[in-house]
Amino acid sequence: MPVLISKKFRFESAHYLPKMPDGHKCKRLHGHSFRIEVHVLGETDPQTGILIDYGDIKQIVSPLVKRLDHRCLNDVGEEEGIELLKNPTSENIAQWFFDELKPELEGLYSIVVHETCTSRCEYRENFS
Ligand SMILES: [Zn+2]
Repeated sequence: MPVLISKKFRFESAHYLPKMPDGHKCKRLHGHSFRIEVHVLGETDPQTGILIDYGDIKQIVSPLVKRLDHRCLNDVGEEEGIELLKNPTSENIAQWFFDELKPELEGLYSIVVHETCTSRCEYRENFS
């Protein structure tokens, strides 16, 4: 039985978007209560009735969340040499999570980054 499951995480971080035009509010340092959703697609194991233990997802994703929590994301990008986080848009944050998690999380389908209550970005490898 095919299923798509998801688990949410949250972290508090500052960022600024250096490539926005001068005077744009996002070019100034500011913070968000970011929330991310990790979506995993696959077949339910007929023996256990589950696709993957939510606890296993937490164990894999939490170290990444901890790297960003209560940090300025641009600083993380500079210090760790991560190009996507040097310009930490929701789009780039979503791709970074996806790229980092893909080798460890079989069936990873997409990452959703909520920057505010009304703004979100979903990243998948392809939308076809
Ligand atoms: Zn922002």
